[in-house]
Amino acid sequence: MLTAATLLIPRMRVSRQTSLNLFCLLWLLLLLKAASSSPLLRGNDPPPSSLPSGLYKGHTCIGCVLVVSVIEQLAQWHNSTVKAATERLCSYIPEKLQGFCYILAELYGPHIAELIDREMNADVVCHSLKLCKQDPGQPLCHLYSPPKVGLSTAIRKARRIVKTSKDLKNFMGFSSVCAFPLLANLCEKIKYPDNWDEERDSNCNGIWGVDPKDGIPYEEKFCKGADSQGVVLLGDSAGAHFHIPPEWMTVSQMSVKSFANLPVAFTNELDWPQFSEITGFLNSTIGGWTDSLYLRLRNRNRCNHRDLQNISKNGGSSGNLLHLIKSLARNQLLDNPATVIYATIGNDVCNGNNDTLASMTTPKEMLSNVMQALRYLDTRLPNGSHVILTGLVDGRFLWDNLHDRYHPLGQLNRDITYSQLYSFLDCLQVSPCRGWMTPNETLRNLTSERALQLSNVLKEIARSEKFANFDIFYMDFPLRQTAEKWHRMGGEPWQLIEPVDGFHPSQIAAALGTSITWQKALQEWPQVLGKENPFNDQIEAIFKDQGGH
Ligand code: CA
Repeated sequence: MLTAATLLIPRMRVSRQTSLNLFCLLWLLLLLKAASSSPLLRGNDPPPSSLPSGLYKGHTCIGCVLVVSVIEQLAQWHNSTVKAATERLCSYIPEKLQGFCYILAELYGPHIAELIDREMNADVVCHSLKLCKQDPGQPLCHLYSPPKVGLSTAIRKARRIVKTSKDLKNFMGFSSVCAFPLLANLCEKIKYPDNWDEERDSNCNGIWGVDPKDGIPYEEKFCKGADSQGVVLLGDSAGAHFHIPPEWMTVSQMSVKSFANLPVAFTNELDWPQFSEITGFLNSTIGGWTDSLYLRLRNRNRCNHRDLQNISKNGGSSGNLLHLIKSLARNQLLDNPATVIYATIGNDVCNGNNDTLASMTTPKEMLSNVMQALRYLDTRLPNGSHVILTGLVDGRFLWDNLHDRYHPLGQLNRDITYSQLYSFLDCLQVSPCRGWMTPNETLRNLTSERALQLSNVLKEIARSEKFANFDIFYMDFPLRQTAEKWHRMGGEPWQLIEPVDGFHPSQIAAALGTSITWQKALQEWPQVLGKENPFNDQIEAIFKDQGGH
């Protein structure tokens, strides 16, 4: 799950079979791992090969509470038995994963049914099945308000019931590590045209062959001197566009359709870069719409077709990007220049550590990390490239707009608010951002203060540093303008946040952010966008969609 998620596009291979083992499915199924996961990856450490056990435990608990909640609510909504609800849920799962669902139902179903029938909530069920565990000296973590008799009493009672039922111990002994493939780059491309692409489309931009009228290769005719460029994102889970579909946990509308995207979503680690703000290239199927810097650069100059790279990972921060950056696919001498967006918008201040403030990146570390990254880029980017540093977000927006709203899982019975979700994640020590996802206003303010300091480091770098092969710019993360624009369109601020994790920017926020960034660049740094290609219409007429993505 947390291996490097370097997303090399233009084409993503999603058909590769994932070997999801039994427990991975449960764990992933509802994985609320709000992906920033910065506690896992700090500083210059390489990515760990497996999950620390605490996190693993936390996510197991979340997965259990979510699955049990969905089963419970399905039974309620359809006025059915718990067994029927479990079967219903499995029948919604795509066929190739259905087997796992039925095995899980077989293993855990009877206990879950027995406990739900006795009006035990999902917290109690999961603690009694030991899928949620209380560490010594730690509080009992719960998503729902505790039952009247008290949580520990209810759990003790539930455990007695479980004990008298079939022994489950054989089913608890999982220890396997889930392994996920990275998205692959199918177009093993070079971006410089080979002999003006007379024979073949060597640079994958969909333009090749020779104009029979004059014998001039199309690539030369349309793209020579066209100011062509690629776009590269160095980012985090927001840049990779982390998203857990809310329809996976909204029982009132749940159907086979709700889970159709499950295999693709898991294969891509719940990231959807194909719809994202910088590298989106497909129409969104996850709400909102797609608008991206890549699509706009491509419309401006169709020679830019398919020249994009999304180097983002869940948990990306200024420190761990120093490893990821090495997957930059660019030949300094032969390729077109690139516009690189550097956007780690939160993980330098977001972590799940007990002492979250002490674990944040300091301004001094930020300066060192970003300068290292930029010096590296200067050795890799073709001359004439551009780098845009994006500031950190002010995450107080999350609490301010969500804390008293109902989470998708809590909408049926109006019983889970985001405030409860944040506390649950915090208690399990898997919060993606203790500093902002907290009722503690002082802590939220201090986190924002550090974020602002780090943004100022970026701003100062853009103001004062010079590089041989690129010019450099800074922009604030456009949250305020996005919210204003969305408000003018009749929207509500909470719609700009991912509904399930209550943390990431939503598809709407991403698309609106693109238009704001584009306008800013057009007005202040038009050189970054390159010229408009006067041959766009001809390219379109001859090459149509240029071969898709
Ligand atoms: Ca070509």
